[in-house]
Amino acid sequence: MSASVRKVVIVGGGTAGWMAAAALARFLGGQAEIRLVESDEIGTVGVGEATIPQLRLFNAGLGLDEDEFVRATAGTFKLGVRFVGWGRPDERYIHAFGTIGRDLGLIPFHHYWLRHRAEGGSTSIWDYSATAQAAKQNRFGRREERPDRLPSGLAHAFHFDAGLYAAYLRRYAEARGVRRTEGKVKDVALRGEDGFVESVLIESGERIEGDLFVDCSGFRGLIIEQALGTGYEDWSKWLPCDRALAVPCESGGELTPYTRASAREAGWQWRIPLQHRTGNGHVYCSAFMSDDEAARILLANLDGPALAEPRPLRFVAGKRRKAWNRNCVALGLAGGFMEPLESTSIHLVQSGIARLLQLFPGRGIAPEEVDEYNRQTDVEWLSVRDFLVFHYWANCRDGEMWRACREMEVPESLERRVALFRANGRIFRNPEELFAEVGWLQVMLGQGVIPVGYHPLADQLSWDQLGEFLGLAAKHAGHVAAQLPDHHDFIARHCAIPAGAAQ
Ligand SMILES: Cc1cc2nc3c(=O)[nH]c(=O)nc-3n(C[C@H](O)[C@H](O)[C@H](O)COP(=O)(O)OP(=O)(O)OC[C@H]3O[C@@H](n4cnc5c(N)ncnc54)[C@H](O)[C@@H]3O)c2cc1C
Repeated sequence: MSASVRKVVIVGGGTAGWMAAAALARFLGGQAEIRLVESDEIGTVGVGEATIPQLRLFNAGLGLDEDEFVRATAGTFKLGVRFVGWGRPDERYIHAFGTIGRDLGLIPFHHYWLRHRAEGGSTSIWDYSATAQAAKQNRFGRREERPDRLPSGLAHAFHFDAGLYAAYLRRYAEARGVRRTEGKVKDVALRGEDGFVESVLIESGERIEGDLFVDCSGFRGLIIEQALGTGYEDWSKWLPCDRALAVPCESGGELTPYTRASAREAGWQWRIPLQHRTGNGHVYCSAFMSDDEAARILLANLDGPALAEPRPLRFVAGKRRKAWNRNCVALGLAGGFMEPLESTSIHLVQSGIARLLQLFPGRGIAPEEVDEYNRQTDVEWLSVRDFLVFHYWANCRDGEMWRACREMEVPESLERRVALFRANGRIFRNPEELFAEVGWLQVMLGQGVIPVGYHPLADQLSWDQLGEFLGLAAKHAGHVAAQLPDHHDFIARHCAIPAGAAQ
């Protein structure tokens, strides 16, 4: 066991670096000195714009006010992802946050719906989701949960400008003592006896020493890969898209409280409405589509005039073999990358930070704790990977890429999960997995996996009782949604950016 951790050095000042700096400053309470090095010359990726509801916990942990945060990041609210053309080209479904219906005893709600459907019922599972109903009507609001009434079932996340979020967290972290150094790291010095990182050397000649290094240097993985040679697990055989073009455009149409993910010939296109512009991107597979064709498709499908040239990004889906190696923890793109289909990257930064805080070294770095960090990280990343792979695998689209995805051999864990659901609608979740049962449920149903049976205990209700139970659940979801204000009006009232501010 090495000496205790007094100095933490974060390399990189993108979303990952500043999220780590803010959280460590907040929770280490001055026990360690925190420094962050970033290079203005290199810049950030900064295209992460859609999130999942867990970010609310991160912000709440820092004590941020939600409306102030939305205003500072030119954000909007997100109730889910609307998938267009993923199962069949003419089909649409939403993966909405929040709950669907109410479980009865031990039996998840969807088994009652499956029984109803098997006996001729024609409702959609989304009729029982207040969040999905609100998204459909472009409504958003916060509802106070009270013990004297049914839970609303609502949940939300955000769309935001990741660059503004990093800047916001920078102000927060610097106000709590994080010391920022602008400069390019040109060398990483390793200790002779155990290969731990000793210091980073920046171009000015300053050498910054540390006990623990957090590598947030982006795709290059300056410490975790270039210095420590940790290795990369390549998942491109399951997630073949390897390029993206991102472009903002002028806002147009309604301010939708959801991300739209539209399948295209060899990939998919995102649409993310912010307050001052709409973020767009085309994620595609270079084996099946040229860059020019990808740009043409992207620009032909914008809400309004493009505000910049499309920005190209290249990646290989996968993760570092170890997220924590020796005295270096990799977060963000330095740790790996899975495409933004379910907006998971910023969340994986958040959970990496939470795990680091839980296992933060006391009297030195214990190998058992490092192993536990890596074990938990693997479980979480693999479960996200399977979730994303499912979207590609369960498609009924034409086109070479889609055919190849349909025919690919998927991870055994995914195959087992889908087979289990297909039989009798059962979904189980390991506690370290990210997506809950309700997320898998919507995506599997949305892409055409319909269970043959359902839980036998769902037969305990009479047909009339079943009708009444489902009817009340649909009425409740509809009622909750109908009470919410229009998304645009809510923002105008609570968290609008001052005119021209985010430009
Ligand atoms: C196409 C695409 C779409 C995405 N969409 C989403 C999304 O919708 N939702 C989501 O959650 N995530 C999304 N992401 C991911 C998200 O953008 C990143 O996870 C997030 O921004 C974190 O990036 P980062 O901080 O790890 O890296 P970067 O933004 O690349 O920052 C790296 C930092 O390291 C510094 N640096 C690098 N080398 C050196 C050096 N030698 N010396 C000093 N400093 C150095 C840079 O200056 C920079 O500050 C998307 C990513 C891509 C590629």
